[in-house]
Amino acid sequence: MNNFTVNSLLKTNPKSQKVVIEGWVKTFRANRFISLNDGSSYENIQCVVDFKNTSSETLSKINTGTSMKIEGLLVESKGKGQKSEIKVEKITILGECDMNSYPIQPKKHSLEFLRENAHLRVRTNTFSSVMRVRSNLSFAIHKYFKEKGFFYVNTPIITGSDAEGAGEMFKVTTLDLNKKNEVNFNEDFFGKETNLTVSGQLEAESLAMGLGKVYTFGPTFRAENSNTSRHLAEFWMIEPEMAFYDLKDNMDLAEDFIKFIIKDLINECKKDLDFLNQRLIDEDKTKPMNERNELNLLDRLNIVIKNNFKRITYSEAFKILKNSKPNKKKKFKFPILEWGVDLQSEHERFLVEKHFKKPVIIYDYPAKIKAFYMRMNEDKKTVKAMDILFPGIGEIVGGSQREERLDVLKSRIKELKIEEKELWWYLDLRKYGTVKHSGFGLGLERLILFATGMSNIRDVIPFPRTPKSAEF
Ligand code: ATP
Ligand code: MN
Repeated sequence: MNNFTVNSLLKTNPKSQKVVIEGWVKTFRANRFISLNDGSSYENIQCVVDFKNTSSETLSKINTGTSMKIEGLLVESKGKGQKSEIKVEKITILGECDMNSYPIQPKKHSLEFLRENAHLRVRTNTFSSVMRVRSNLSFAIHKYFKEKGFFYVNTPIITGSDAEGAGEMFKVTTLDLNKKNEVNFNEDFFGKETNLTVSGQLEAESLAMGLGKVYTFGPTFRAENSNTSRHLAEFWMIEPEMAFYDLKDNMDLAEDFIKFIIKDLINECKKDLDFLNQRLIDEDKTKPMNERNELNLLDRLNIVIKNNFKRITYSEAFKILKNSKPNKKKKFKFPILEWGVDLQSEHERFLVEKHFKKPVIIYDYPAKIKAFYMRMNEDKKTVKAMDILFPGIGEIVGGSQREERLDVLKSRIKELKIEEKELWWYLDLRKYGTVKHSGFGLGLERLILFATGMSNIRDVIPFPRTPKSAEF
């Protein structure tokens, strides 16, 4: 290890000082100019090789992908495009790279090809930028909650409650399923049926009922067989849960939270965002006019920071959608015919992108399309749910005020034919010192999609898990 990074060198005033740097070769031109990258920055450092005094054996090993240690002097660059460069004094080859078989050639690769080479794709500009953005967003999330007095809690990944209804679940078992026709979960490891968690919410509610304000930030699993560009089988979710918060407090917090992390990202990852923005503009130029994005990435981020999110009830959204067409000719694929139907992503995106042109929060949804734990309104038809919809994404946050009244919760559970005894501990929270409380879930990868302008959720997590795909 040495004490320098490409990022720190690019910020240092070049005064012919001695430096040491380790990294991977991006390109090698004219037997002379190495572009070296170590992951610390989107930018590379140019290293100028004194080829007359370098052995031809060493020179022959300098290829795209080769790892090396370079010792030399940090000097002002004579070339265009960079302030400083390294005048190389010594090269130590660390790991050779076979140029002919190396998948990451110095050219543009399709995202599909890079997905098949997910173990190496972080060496490309696009993926290293996306991963730095991912890291920064995660850190900003912790920073926000810490500043607001929340406690970070960890809820189980293996759960025994199967009543959440958030999505299809993956079973966890040590039984030899090949050997048996009849599966008896009493004989299983936990003596009962268990699954990978689809949400930490119910447990987070329990913790909020003593700590006040908590959040979880962990992996979440859903066996949804929907092969979309916005669903993963394994994703990361942030779930704050707050005692004494009603639905409005919940919406206020969610909006403030998202604005904070996007602002933080703009401050911290300027170079990566500029690169991703340009990438999107270039990609757009290859598309027909009517498919191009109206807004570039930086405009989109600014729309989120600078506008109050539009808040409307489901009933108001329903009226707008019933009287709208997505454009002059087309109709919605799923027409909005009667009050009570669930909104599809095309409806959500219409409201955000065409109608209001800013993020939208829809609240007070019909009870029958939402989960059992959401607080019933006076009309007995709607619940205090809220979804936040984003341009290009659709739903990014789903949340609600929770039902804190024991009798109402029990009758909802009965109505939906959920096993009450499975939820005994959840009901206890309403028996012993119940208080109004609220929370929401934000999918980290949906947030990264928005923040990077990437269009497929498989490209914002290092090793995506989706139907028929769990390589690496
Ligand atoms: P959708 O309707 O898009 O499937 P959902 O209603 O199932 O979402 P929730 O159960 O409310 O989503 O989960 C909270 C948040 O988790 C969502 O707003 C979204 O950001 C994220 N999320 C949900 N399912 C997935 C998934 N399969 N992959 C990635 N993120 C997801
Ligand atoms: Mn879902």
